[in-house]
Amino acid sequence: MSLLVTGIGELVTNDPHVGGAVDDDVTPGWLGAIRDAALVVEDGRIEWFGRAGDASAADWRIDLEGRAVVPGFVDSHSHLVFAGDRSAEFAARMTGAPYDGGGIAVSVAATRQADEQTLRGLLEGRVAEMRAQGTTTVEIKSGYGLTVADEVQALRLARAATEEVTFLGGHVVPAEFAHRRAEYVELVAGEMMRACAPLARWVDVFCEPHSAHAFDADEARTILLAGRAAGLGLRVHGNQLGPGPGVALAVELGAASVDHCTYLSSADVEALAGANRGAGDSTVATLLPGVEFCTRSPYPDGRHLLDAGVAVALASDCNPGTCYSSSMPLAIALAVREMGLTPAEALAAATTGSARSLRRADIGRVAVDARADLAVLDAPSYLHLAYRPGVPIVRALDLG
Ligand SMILES: [Zn+2]
Repeated sequence: MSLLVTGIGELVTNDPHVGGAVDDDVTPGWLGAIRDAALVVEDGRIEWFGRAGDASAADWRIDLEGRAVVPGFVDSHSHLVFAGDRSAEFAARMTGAPYDGGGIAVSVAATRQADEQTLRGLLEGRVAEMRAQGTTTVEIKSGYGLTVADEVQALRLARAATEEVTFLGGHVVPAEFAHRRAEYVELVAGEMMRACAPLARWVDVFCEPHSAHAFDADEARTILLAGRAAGLGLRVHGNQLGPGPGVALAVELGAASVDHCTYLSSADVEALAGANRGAGDSTVATLLPGVEFCTRSPYPDGRHLLDAGVAVALASDCNPGTCYSSSMPLAIALAVREMGLTPAEALAAATTGSARSLRRADIGRVAVDARADLAVLDAPSYLHLAYRPGVPIVRALDLG
């Protein structure tokens, strides 16, 4: 059965080659925005899109009465499988307590104690919360189990919610290994990797020498190379708490994404830009401005990254410690207000940019044969995403 979605006041496609697209001071032609648009969906794929007047009939019809439609947000970085509450830690941080990664142990203890049904309910609630804010693809990491059995359980739960599952046994060194770091790295790269790799698409590691709980470059490399040998794609948490080796390691190993990028040297920026100039897949810099907001940290200079030619993505990093927000519209608003991106650049980073960080071409854009993953705004233009911060005007478009 085909479905005609019409009455779209403005359709953002992320396709620079769309004919008749808007091209003015605020909406660049590369965003591929079409006014008075329609699209036809069949079997969950986009079959046709264009001007509403050119649409042919379909079996069913929805009229959006002038609302804007954008590609559904691709949230390429989240930690949704956890139990427990760290609101008191947030309150303490707002009165001056620093963040060093140590609070993750609180979530690990609560997650290990929770039963599977409880964790599933919490995860499903968080995914639904994201969809209600326009997110149609979410990457979900493990990393609050940190035993073979608990990591396997987290990945099984994540797999039921998304295709983009990431093994993050290298999140922190758990307390019981505090004086046996090398043994924990060996466990993650060995027995835990063998059990977890078949359940995941990606491996990630918190590479952060500024945290006593996270991993240095050599430890991170060991875990990433074991993940690659097990057939996983690579992602890195890097340069969050201070300048460090995360970005260089990610580019060296051809990781799909290096996330946070809060503290970058000029060599880091050049490495990311150089990777983006090269042929084939490069390492995307995924910015997580909700973390800077919730930890009161300086924002990375997103404007500088784009001007330098770095591929940039935006994601939520929804997690219980440094950013318990699942809101991609918040990330977009912060990217515009605090990191120098234009509204068009921020939307592109949250859709096609984050899709690229997952090495996906079938999401994050409107194209024939792309997935019909769309978000609809109670507003006439995508500009309202940044213009109306905190107002719930966008949701995933339910095509029934
Ligand atoms: Zn994270």
